[in-house]
Amino acid sequence: MQHCDTLIAPRWCVPVEPANAVLIEHAVVINDGRISDVLPLADARAKYQPSAFIMQPDHILIPGFVNAHTHAAMSLMRGMADDLPLEAWLQEGIWPAEKKWLSAEMVRDGTELAIAEMIASGTTCFSDQYFFPEIVAETAVNLHMRAMVGTPIMEFPTAWAADASEYMNKANDRVHDPYVDHPLISTCFAPHSTYSLSDESFIELRVLADQLDVRTQIHLHETADELANALEKNGKHPFERLHDLGLVNASLLAVHCVHMSDTEIAIFAEAGVDIAHCPRSNLKLASGIAPVAKYREAGVNVAIGTDGAASNNTLDMLSEMRMAALLAKATASDAAAVSASDALRMATLNGASALGLAHETGSIEPGKWADLTSIDLNRLHSQPIYDPVSQLVYTARADQVTDVWIAGKHLLDNGQLVHIDTDDLLQRSIEWRDRFAAPQI
Ligand SMILES: [Zn+2]
Repeated sequence: MQHCDTLIAPRWCVPVEPANAVLIEHAVVINDGRISDVLPLADARAKYQPSAFIMQPDHILIPGFVNAHTHAAMSLMRGMADDLPLEAWLQEGIWPAEKKWLSAEMVRDGTELAIAEMIASGTTCFSDQYFFPEIVAETAVNLHMRAMVGTPIMEFPTAWAADASEYMNKANDRVHDPYVDHPLISTCFAPHSTYSLSDESFIELRVLADQLDVRTQIHLHETADELANALEKNGKHPFERLHDLGLVNASLLAVHCVHMSDTEIAIFAEAGVDIAHCPRSNLKLASGIAPVAKYREAGVNVAIGTDGAASNNTLDMLSEMRMAALLAKATASDAAAVSASDALRMATLNGASALGLAHETGSIEPGKWADLTSIDLNRLHSQPIYDPVSQLVYTARADQVTDVWIAGKHLLDNGQLVHIDTDDLLQRSIEWRDRFAAPQI
């Protein structure tokens, strides 16, 4: 008998790779934080002596969700400026609040609130884009969460930096350099949008990103107004400007991409650009619906993100995945445009690919980190079960997520967050609400 750290025996195991596989009566073996074996349960019983043996007779075990785009700290602004279109939402709601309250303390508390919500709803990795990224990285490490931490760059001053060169210097000194080869944290550049950066700064960013071998994450073609304004100001669409500056390549994670022509989609596919599709944020801000079926037909890798909780208003990848599948069917007039299995892949392995982490996470394969989520399907609204993946995608709710492991660490145990003081976190959230809601003086 061989010793192993943990052996999980779910009713169904959906590894995502190979595609469409559903393993019944199998076990997943964890050693030193990584998946070391996936094998029939009877063989596992004969082969391994685990420190922890976890039987889950009603559960489906999947790779943890990868939230391909969010702004974790903005969870403190959840519900603060609802029912507005993007420009008014930013200019009347979010930016004035950030001007007054953006700080390391706010980012720490907001990121912790977001990570607690993400782990409790089955997410094991997120791609972030916000100020004080060194605090985002530190908070993720403290809570044992996997993250790709995006460092913001813009020409405008904020509480974090004064101008583009200070943003870049701080990004290098505080985030990119310290987290090289970290087991939980990877980093990327995260310019907010093409309208927030000059051509010169984009060129500097491209050179630095190439040197550091990190990706670039940017909001792109989110609204029709963004395209019209860019055309008026620069004589070209944001996509064309990025292309001319040499940034449309396999290191680009383009967020939203709601309004794209067929020609632009073909160029994306050719260049190997990844897309973070954030359907509920696009719906809520009335930005539109991204042509996901077209992207997939063209061979573009489409991942799923929630965007920040200020424009969603949750970080729940189960419902985001369901929304992505349903919208793709309706917009393509094709009920098979995104199947349940496709949707699960978009929310896991496609996300890992979009973050450059497909070799480390996103599927249940020996050698990868044990980033796993277990969901209890023994609920009235999930019964009876003809196809467990369909039930997962079309019926499961976040409160059915019972267990989550990140790099083998059991962070959600039978529905309880193990390392987070939720009472204290709730209290801090209420205090932030009182500060944000206080009359502006
Ligand atoms: Zn965003």
